[in-house]
Amino acid sequence: MDAPVLVLNANFEPLNVCNTRRAVCLIFSGKADLVMNGRGYIQTVTKSIPIPSVIRLEQMVHRPRMQVRLTRREVFRRDNYTCQYCGRHATNLTVDHVVPKHLGGPHTWTNVVTACPSCNHRKGARPLKETQLTLLQIPREPPANAHYLFGRQLAENDEWEQFIRGW
Ligand SMILES: [Zn+2]
Repeated sequence: MDAPVLVLNANFEPLNVCNTRRAVCLIFSGKADLVMNGRGYIQTVTKSIPIPSVIRLEQMVHRPRMQVRLTRREVFRRDNYTCQYCGRHATNLTVDHVVPKHLGGPHTWTNVVTACPSCNHRKGARPLKETQLTLLQIPREPPANAHYLFGRQLAENDEWEQFIRGW
């Protein structure tokens, strides 16, 4: 019942991901339609209910443009789990502020990068120009398109692809 279900807006735009329990509630209360199942059935005393994989809301939901939340996990993901100074894949990655916080560097997408512990240590609390390090690429805010936003879950739910493509 905790399996992720893709929720589409009334116009089929991907909105978010909820769990199966919530998706079934939305269908039963008439707020959403089943768009895709294929994960088997929930057996109740009187009937069997298809387990949804994708649902669509009956009513259009208006909401502001989606943005990718700035979290450690999303910074690593944007940078492809690669140190942005030496290009190494490391398991114990850190987040580095290009302009250090104590020098007024903001905690924004354009000032945070993934760094391995040794580069982070080499850089220390100095601004970039005082170090030997260079950035592999200029840090940017990741695109808030559906493919990026739902990309992490897409690997395990590839049937969502057709609903996410193009948004
Ligand atoms: Zn490094």
